[in-house]
Amino acid sequence: MKAEKFIGYQKLLSSITVECQKIDDIGNVASYIPELHHIDPNKLGVHLTTIDNQNFSFGDSTEKFSIQSISKVLALALAIELEGDNLWNRVGVEPSGTAFNSLVQLEYENGIPRNPLINAGALVICDILISHLKKPKYDFLEFTRNISENPNLNYNSKIAESEKLAGFRNASLINLMRSYGNINNDINIVLDFYFNLCSIEMSCQELAHEFLFLASDGINPVTNQRIVSSRRSKRINAIMLMCGFYDEAGEFSFKVGLPGKSGVGGGIIAIYPGNYSIAVWSPKLNKKGNSYKGMKVLESFTTKTRSSIF
Ligand code: GLU
Repeated sequence: MKAEKFIGYQKLLSSITVECQKIDDIGNVASYIPELHHIDPNKLGVHLTTIDNQNFSFGDSTEKFSIQSISKVLALALAIELEGDNLWNRVGVEPSGTAFNSLVQLEYENGIPRNPLINAGALVICDILISHLKKPKYDFLEFTRNISENPNLNYNSKIAESEKLAGFRNASLINLMRSYGNINNDINIVLDFYFNLCSIEMSCQELAHEFLFLASDGINPVTNQRIVSSRRSKRINAIMLMCGFYDEAGEFSFKVGLPGKSGVGGGIIAIYPGNYSIAVWSPKLNKKGNSYKGMKVLESFTTKTRSSIF
């Protein structure tokens, strides 16, 4: 990788973020998880890490936030390693075209979720992880910490608890899947694990470092540690491209043109395979549940740097 390739990235990232700070934010902070509603809606941070470990950041890039559904990608990465291709008997790889917590499709499709990045799919992945791991919460946290050798990653128990108290949708999804025989463990244990996964906190800087392995064929290029095989890295990126933005995955591809994943905490991670990972955080969400300004920053950045996969 030639370092010159990234000349001008810092200046560009700063100017784009400043521009986006000025535009009216038509979104709203997620309120269905009460604890998320307290977050300052005006936060805006971005961090880009290249596979040769150059770092560019701007704004609130070192402040931690709840990564929410972004953790579904990490859960998938571990579950594929543990369960292998059998996993695909229990969850599909197609875009859902419905909201992240929709029940409708699940009934039509006999309790097999469309993909692992919607809530139903992630609950199945959590069930699989519980079947394999001795101490699921501890082991999963160790897995995420090892990926980027970052011992400072942790669950936020207040957020997990807050979601548990309001988690009626997720309870409905898991009960429905259980009725179809697609959940093997105790429902309350799976839900508790899922809520904790969603509560993990990272800053944009930490998030970009954590996901760099997906920009580098499954290997963390900084530590040289293989996290997933090259084939699985390709597949995870493909799933993110098709399914990472609820029923707005098409729009994200259209405008940004990178595999990525969003969370209702306002974070987005996007991957430019062979080049970089970039994390953005802005808590106000558009109607589809994706960070409004986060998408704007990424659209402008990939357009100006011509760094989309298309
Ligand atoms: N914990 C959230 C939920 O289950 C995750 C949603 C998201 O970030 O997409 O509703």
